[in-house]
Amino acid sequence: MSKIYVTGLGPGAADQMTKKAEKVLEHCPVIIGYTVYIDLIRDQFPDKIFLSTPMRKEAERCRMAFEEAEKGRDVAMVCSGDAGIYGMAGLICEIGKEYPGIGIEVVPGITAASGGAAVLGAPLMHDFAVISLSDLLTPWELIEKRLDAAAQADFVICLYNPSSRKRADYLEKACGIILRHRSPETVCGIVRNIGREGESYEILSLERLRTTQTDMFTTVFIGNSQTMELNGRMVTPRGYKDV
Ligand code: SAH
Repeated sequence: MSKIYVTGLGPGAADQMTKKAEKVLEHCPVIIGYTVYIDLIRDQFPDKIFLSTPMRKEAERCRMAFEEAEKGRDVAMVCSGDAGIYGMAGLICEIGKEYPGIGIEVVPGITAASGGAAVLGAPLMHDFAVISLSDLLTPWELIEKRLDAAAQADFVICLYNPSSRKRADYLEKACGIILRHRSPETVCGIVRNIGREGESYEILSLERLRTTQTDMFTTVFIGNSQTMELNGRMVTPRGYKDV
């Protein structure tokens, strides 16, 4: 039975890919994914058949993977970061119901939250919530509700998909909601191009974050009430004991 390996590549750097992911890519003759991710690995695996579809054609991309697997060859469906965090693992499992003869294995990777946290220092040492600001698949009202609840409960908040050209003011709106419960001085961090060329980061207050422009290659970290800046690093203490 041929198999689809839904594989997280990590944030970008070759040495941040797991050994298992590398083995899977070596093993599978066919590699499918969004063009940006395929471009990250094309040079490393020159002999593979690479297939792709544009950004918003995820279901089509999954069907393509099953059709290739039905031809009798193993397929790697690649995603950035972790395949099961805003990746393709869920859709492959859903569509997999229609293809009972094809095996599915999910291969995890380093997600942007942990890759970016390492760049900033140690912002995720205590309870944290991960929220995507993309309203393509989630109604904005629900995103607002989750932002409000996470801010109220003093979670460190990690934001994926903080903005795009069409959603230029979403980060500003999100910060506005969080400011209902948090001080404008709350320590925040942004990391761009984690593990890729042009990796950069900044530590700034929630007030300043509110008017900062980000893009779709940025992950945003909003500290909890205890988070501090220590020698240029964003650090959340492990506990609240001495408060
Ligand atoms: N499956 C991915 C997330 C995909 S959602 C993962 O686990 O990391 C896409 C969002 O993830 C981007 O908009 C950005 O917020 C974040 N992201 C993914 N890779 C990134 C990188 N290399 N640098 C900064 N942010 C990244």
